[in-house]
Amino acid sequence: MAGPRESQISVLDYDAIIIGAGMSGLYQLCRLRELGLRVRVFEAGTNVGGTWYWNRYPGARFDSESYSYGYSFSKELLEEWEWSEHFAGQPETLRYLNHVADKFELRRDIRFQSRVVAAIYDEDARSWTITLEDGERFRARFLITAIGPLSTPTLPRIEGRDRFAGQSFHTARWPREPVDFAGKRVAVIGTGATGVQTIQTIAADVGHLTVFQRTPNWCAPLHNGKIDAETQKRIKAGYPEMFARCQETFACFIHTPDPRGAFEVSDEEREAFYEKLYAERGFGIWQGNFRDILTDHKANATISDFVARKIRSRVKDQQVAEKLIPKNHGFGTRRLPLETFYYEVYNRDNVELVDIAETPIERITSTGIKTSAREYRFDIIIFATGFDAITGAFDKIDFRGVDGVRLKDKWKSGPQTYLGLMVDGFPNMMMLMGPHTALGNIPRSIEYSVDWVSGLIRFAGENGLTRLEATAAGVVSWTNHVKALGVGLLSNEVNSWMTGINSNVEGKQTRIVARYSGSAPAYRARCDAVAACGYDELMLA
Ligand SMILES: Cc1cc2nc3c(=O)[nH]c(=O)nc-3n(C[C@H](O)[C@H](O)[C@H](O)COP(=O)(O)OP(=O)(O)OC[C@H]3O[C@@H](n4cnc5c(N)ncnc54)[C@H](O)[C@@H]3O)c2cc1C
Repeated sequence: MAGPRESQISVLDYDAIIIGAGMSGLYQLCRLRELGLRVRVFEAGTNVGGTWYWNRYPGARFDSESYSYGYSFSKELLEEWEWSEHFAGQPETLRYLNHVADKFELRRDIRFQSRVVAAIYDEDARSWTITLEDGERFRARFLITAIGPLSTPTLPRIEGRDRFAGQSFHTARWPREPVDFAGKRVAVIGTGATGVQTIQTIAADVGHLTVFQRTPNWCAPLHNGKIDAETQKRIKAGYPEMFARCQETFACFIHTPDPRGAFEVSDEEREAFYEKLYAERGFGIWQGNFRDILTDHKANATISDFVARKIRSRVKDQQVAEKLIPKNHGFGTRRLPLETFYYEVYNRDNVELVDIAETPIERITSTGIKTSAREYRFDIIIFATGFDAITGAFDKIDFRGVDGVRLKDKWKSGPQTYLGLMVDGFPNMMMLMGPHTALGNIPRSIEYSVDWVSGLIRFAGENGLTRLEATAAGVVSWTNHVKALGVGLLSNEVNSWMTGINSNVEGKQTRIVARYSGSAPAYRARCDAVAACGYDELMLA
């Protein structure tokens, strides 16, 4: 293949363009700067933070332990930053990411309020041209997407949604000004992780709260708490060990699955183990449980039954308790929301649960919500209806690769990727936290993927390469591998954002494998091997 002409290279605006200034984009910027590249980040929001910039709803906070979530790449940053709680709230995390942006002077290379709407590959110049919403264009050799796995909010497809005359908010587009709930009649639609956090936080502040639930989710206690000075010292001293542990665990959390099967212990031991996990902080009950609860229906039934009993014991009205117990999926087979007195909310006089599987919402009216049973009047409607996950942000950009092929067409029947990082026909484009990559405790995966991408770009520079492309065979092989890994997992038998289902998004009614469900160490070993062999699985020119 002929090399790019000099004149075309010289008109490139940047060496690399990164889309998105969340945790992925910020770290990628740091790394590419170190390589001496001219880099520009384009970010739709007005500031850094991604998830933590957009999700300002009441009660938004981590389910990962704060200290296991923060960046690990800078010792100085680890030393100087103090998390105040085991699971920090959104304002603190946003402060942290602003601190990172200040410390490493990242903002000078970020352009805010700049939504990318198109990205087109130019074969002659071996470069990408991105177009912003206002029509402005920029060109760069490399394009790195850091657009987020959960960054495209979805509203429910309910008739009359725009007719409501009161205030209404999607949780991921929450206003900056405080919302006054006092004495207000409030509706929350949705009971996923975000809905749970919102509901438990506002219940005591509102006049009356009506929760519209389509699918109950299994939830477990978060057990958050302040970090005292002694613990702070221990956390800081233990960072190297903790991060090393996160590298070894299945999904980069500090929790490791118990090597035993659920039936390898007596009934009493199993019950005692579940009690212990239920009383512990964080995702241990999900990520640190018996090894077979997420693969074996009978093993899963034991923990589902245990948590169902907990819900019945915490909710006074047993009819309400039954509604809150999931019947169509087992514990942990969807993303587990962690809660703080969530179930007790339903013991309050000012809270009502409406099961919309029983009495569907017919429409939103100017004054409230009409179900098949009755009409409700509201001052505020909160849509906790989540995201068009994993591929949603990709679908919003018109990506065109070699010969004008659209990414959306290529992924019509589900994403196809090489290591979750590249796609054949889309040279010089690398994806962070896109489909088919290891996610889990996400910043740990972000740091790995950014380092891998940076290694590849450094290699290209050192070897005078200007065109890096995954092979079609490599993409087929990785995509098949990712699909095979999902076989036998109970989570892949369940409709959820993790299996690509979103009833509120057209065309997302068929399950796809969008998520890598193997272990993070295995993922890294595979990617490391590719780098160690001089990226010879790629087409390099
Ligand atoms: C409420 C909530 C709680 C979470 N809690 C946890 C947790 O406890 N632990 C965990 O591991 N993960 C958690 N996550 C997942 C979280 O998304 C990741 O941890 C992490 O923040 C992802 O970082 P990112 O930079 O890849 O993506 P994001 O943070 O989503 O950032 C993507 C950025 O790209 C921008 N962008 C997207 N499209 C465009 C475009 N076309 N043009 C310009 N800019 C664009 C967006 O505006 C956004 O700023 C949570 C997610 C949510 C929504």
